[in-house]
Amino acid sequence: MAETGTIYLVGAGPGDPDLLTLRAARLIERAELIVHDGLVDPAVLALARPDATLVSVAKQRSKHTLPQEDINALLVREAQAGRDVVRLKGGDPLVFGRGGEEAEAAQAHGVPVEIVPGISAANGAAAAAQIALTHRDAASIVTFVAGQCKGLKNQDWAGLAGPGRTLVIYMGVKTAPQIAEKLMEDGLAPETPMAVVENGARPQMRVLRGMLAGLPDLVTRENVVSPALIVIGDVTAREDAAIAQLALEKSL
Ligand code: SAH
Repeated sequence: MAETGTIYLVGAGPGDPDLLTLRAARLIERAELIVHDGLVDPAVLALARPDATLVSVAKQRSKHTLPQEDINALLVREAQAGRDVVRLKGGDPLVFGRGGEEAEAAQAHGVPVEIVPGISAANGAAAAAQIALTHRDAASIVTFVAGQCKGLKNQDWAGLAGPGRTLVIYMGVKTAPQIAEKLMEDGLAPETPMAVVENGARPQMRVLRGMLAGLPDLVTRENVVSPALIVIGDVTAREDAAIAQLALEKSL
């Protein structure tokens, strides 16, 4: 029987191949089998060997994403057949990436698994948009939440956003109206600054700024598409503040 292969759960970062870790880049370049999801940028996949087998488990128009159990089974089956598998996931594999479930499936079958971290969308988008997630003058707490998940309505987000805090919402474009409402119901001021970063750290990035109350309108008006992050908190207004200050100084 062939020796069991290893499953590498690899973070592909926000898109730009320059933002891969060296370990991720080496694994991708050497892989014979890559199983990737839809968020992985084609520029990253282009690093693979021409003879590598690339399997997409992404959402297709008529078909839904391969169910998670099927992905787990595929990874385990390939490893048990003796192949190393590079399981490539957007951002970091352990941030809203279901990497934990894949690691557990591997462990349950005695398949060795290694996890290679990646730059999560929050870090990539914040850097590209020049939004400090924490800032001595504006925020010393940062929270990542999923805006589309089981029981969003019943989740307690109270206290996650507000003065001195930054809230980063993944997968929140579709549920933006419910999110804005939920946060304001929790007592957040309607004029709390926020930014939407669409295609963060990619060439077509858009950074749209506004106030919490205007979030649903902004998403519709600007036709925001996935992938996008919603960042809520004073840190999103600092760049504007700096520019306004500069303009003021120049006009004096
Ligand atoms: N594991 C990934 C997150 C997967 S959930 C990570 O660590 O980044 C998918 C969500 O991530 C998207 O709906 C979007 O909210 C966010 N996202 C991923 N890539 C992004 C990008 N380049 N710009 C903005 N948001 C992104």
